[in-house]
Amino acid sequence: MPPPRIPQRAEVLVVGAGPGGSAAAAHAATAGHDVVLLDAATFPRDKTCGDGLTPRAVAELDHLGLGRFLDDRPRLDGLTLHGWGASQQIRWPSGRFPSFGSAVSRVELDEEIRALAVARGAHMVQGAKAVDVTMRDGRIADVVVDTAEGARTIAVRDVIVADGVRSGLGKALGREWHRDTAYGVAARAYVRSGRADDNWMGSHLELRGPDGALLPGYGWVFPLGGAGDNLLNVGVGALATAKRPAHMALRPVLEHYAHMVGEEWAIEGPPQRLTSALLPMGGAVSGVAGPNWMLIGDAAALVNPLNGEGIDYALEAGRLAVELLDDTARSPDHTTRWRDVLIGQYGLAFSAARRLAGLLTVPQAVPTLGRPGIRSAHLMSMVVRVMGNLITPDDADLVARAWRTAGRLSSQIDQRPPFR
Ligand SMILES: Cc1cc2nc3c(=O)[nH]c(=O)nc-3n(C[C@H](O)[C@H](O)[C@H](O)COP(=O)(O)OP(=O)(O)OC[C@H]3O[C@@H](n4cnc5c(N)ncnc54)[C@H](O)[C@@H]3O)c2cc1C
Repeated sequence: MPPPRIPQRAEVLVVGAGPGGSAAAAHAATAGHDVVLLDAATFPRDKTCGDGLTPRAVAELDHLGLGRFLDDRPRLDGLTLHGWGASQQIRWPSGRFPSFGSAVSRVELDEEIRALAVARGAHMVQGAKAVDVTMRDGRIADVVVDTAEGARTIAVRDVIVADGVRSGLGKALGREWHRDTAYGVAARAYVRSGRADDNWMGSHLELRGPDGALLPGYGWVFPLGGAGDNLLNVGVGALATAKRPAHMALRPVLEHYAHMVGEEWAIEGPPQRLTSALLPMGGAVSGVAGPNWMLIGDAAALVNPLNGEGIDYALEAGRLAVELLDDTARSPDHTTRWRDVLIGQYGLAFSAARRLAGLLTVPQAVPTLGRPGIRSAHLMSMVVRVMGNLITPDDADLVARAWRTAGRLSSQIDQRPPFR
């Protein structure tokens, strides 16, 4: 393959072509900006993920113009929750979001969104890693890019940093990840299955290790359907905090979990392509913006602390960041404006969710709440709605009001509020 052509300048440079970066690039190109989308990897590439798309993510894909892409993908009506000898099948709540979710391997999903950005006019550079910046008057003047041909620089007006969980470029710009509130560790694998065309996501709230010990985590089974090679994405995740780090070895737990659900899910053969990763959550980073840069997606810890999903927030933040770019007439400095956008969109919900997630890391909290809770379909419907962050500012019912109040109270006592 010929070496990538590196442009010398870009109005908007987007670093990272995951869902966040590619969505941002697509929106920015549509809005008429000259966009360069840069990724260290060569696409299509894999990304460790559960591949689950909640109704929030489906809504955002629709917004991007990719709704049809999901037409031949699983249409997942809700979650089947298991634990302590009981099960509940809970539909996604009806309301502003679509009534279904889906699941698509990240090799395919990310390639689809990336291709959309390119089709809309973004210039894609693959196999080139952003490693540093040069600053002028407090703003990024150039981004230094490592390529097979050596270092190159791109002069920039604005930079959208979407370089994922480790966010090397974010770090160079002063981003710090704080682990005193809840974060996640999770592993996923793929298995072939006779039930890959199921219409429900499976979730086990009672997760046990090979020795039968109860673990502070959960398991999932997400069917990828016929278009997804009749595979299931099977995974396990655990919540942790700096005070209570998760010590479990994920590989044996995941292998045991896949074996445990094997009969129910008609699994054929052992788990393949097992990988694991950390998940920063609930906006637990500071330094999310500077005068001409904004962090989005995992780089800004935009992951729901109660279910580990971040594709939807990455997509949403890509759109919101471009809306802010288009509003630069009001102020050319993004530093506080972008942080305020994130706080306005996610601050209350993330504050309450990560407090609750932190509570779930306390030994015995999960069985104490889960054992009686899973016996009530009504309660579990509320749990699915709250855990999925599927409450909108327009919702005025009791659960929505109680959750917003919890968010307000939680933010008032946060030692370090989200995004600070
Ligand atoms: C085990 C696990 C299961 C999960 N399950 C789900 C789920 O089911 N549903 C869900 O919604 N979320 C899930 N998540 C979270 C989800 O994967 C992330 O929130 C999502 O990928 C964030 O997207 P992003 O665009 O911010 O970053 P990423 O998808 O990580 O993309 C970042 C991109 O940046 C590139 N990059 C990195 N550094 C540089 C650099 N210096 N220069 C150029 N390019 C660079 C990378 O190559 C990559 O392509 C899961 C996470 C884990 C770990």
